[in-house]
Amino acid sequence: MRDCLFCKIINGEIPSEKVYEDDEILAFKDINPKAPVHILIIPKKHISSAMEIKENDESLIGKIFTVIAKIAKEQKLDNGYRIINNCGEDGGQEVMHLHFHLLGGKKLSIDI
Ligand code: AMP
Ligand code: ZN
Repeated sequence: MRDCLFCKIINGEIPSEKVYEDDEILAFKDINPKAPVHILIIPKKHISSAMEIKENDESLIGKIFTVIAKIAKEQKLDNGYRIINNCGEDGGQEVMHLHFHLLGGKKLSIDI
């Protein structure tokens, strides 16, 4: 996707602070962290939002959650954390490439 910010991060056009990468998934630090640990986990395949997930993507989406658990362990979030997906305009999604926020490192309130 030519004009997608996160596709540009995937292909290296825009720099990021990577914390995990494999052939299907990338995780990097959020540029505007809302908690001591704030990491974005994205599929390398461009899927614009959770609304666009297809049956074909089920194993990829499942894998994202095992990667999140692995990163959380590495980040020592043993006391818990929050996974957020903002979906679509009403959900507050700003970057239209599916991503999951991993937030932790402090006791989170409802509004983060
Ligand atoms: P959302 O509102 O769920 O679409 O979240 C988009 C997230 O992307 C926000 O938390 C931004 O801080 C983050 N973000 C935007 N640009 C970058 C960037 N270049 N590198 C890392 N994170 C970014
Ligand atoms: Zn994209």
